[in-house]
Amino acid sequence: MKTAVVTGASRGIGRAIALKLAQDGANVVVNYSGSKDKAEAVVAEIQAMGQQAIAVQASVANADEVKELMNTALQTFGSIDILVNNAGITRDNLLMRMKEDEWDAVMATNLKGVFLCTKAVARQMMKQRAGRIINVASIVGVAGNAGQANYVAAKAGVIGLTKTTAKELAARNILVNAVAPGFIATDMTDELPTDVKEAMLQQIPLAKLGQPEDIANVVAFLASDAASYMTGQTLHIDGGMVM
Ligand code: NAD
Repeated sequence: MKTAVVTGASRGIGRAIALKLAQDGANVVVNYSGSKDKAEAVVAEIQAMGQQAIAVQASVANADEVKELMNTALQTFGSIDILVNNAGITRDNLLMRMKEDEWDAVMATNLKGVFLCTKAVARQMMKQRAGRIINVASIVGVAGNAGQANYVAAKAGVIGLTKTTAKELAARNILVNAVAPGFIATDMTDELPTDVKEAMLQQIPLAKLGQPEDIANVVAFLASDAASYMTGQTLHIDGGMVM
């Protein structure tokens, strides 16, 4: 039985990934930083499928909490086979108005968090001589986006980190890939003003928002035996926005 750790899994894309990996047969560690109730609800949904899951609180931006998260996963299930670095935040502002703390907060969660979680599982996966790491980047990390200098720089960093860790860990059969979602219907995008949402829709050839399950299905593919000869890739899941 494989064990997956999914960061920021109490809602949105992370929740959908946790449910899909459980459906595919994995034990799941549902990491959360905010609402314990929501994380426990995801655990209950997984248990209702007949699979095992636990909820573990940890900020991915805090090295000690990340170590504790991975130790708990290992003690509970005995291995960590899949890590999905999904946790992410936005603090949008135009460059000239962006405050240093807005830059730092996004970098800490969206980029340093991926580094800390990857480093914390890599040793175990090296011992296992097997592992899958899947990073949730964003299409804006490829194309850029006005008003998101911090978020775009972090997500572009995640794509670079994906390539580098893929090269460093390949010899131990640890495959590292990323997904780059476009405009997905979650709490994160729900907060955007209506005119911004309408402008985004105009840029999507498939003319609709993606659903969290659209991302979860591709992550599950990257975690599966079907994807055993690809590493260092970033798959765009964006309705054709960035080609
Ligand atoms: P969301 O806000 O619904 O979920 C993000 C989750 O991350 C939340 O559960 C939050 O509590 C958690 N989180 C935040 N900071 C954390 C921390 N320090 N430690 C642990 N968990 C933390 O957003 P979402 O849309 O589901 O986003 C999930 C991922 O997908 C993010 O990395 C986001 O950048 C990326 N993404 C989303 C979209 C989109 O359109 N929704 C597009 C591209 C990329």
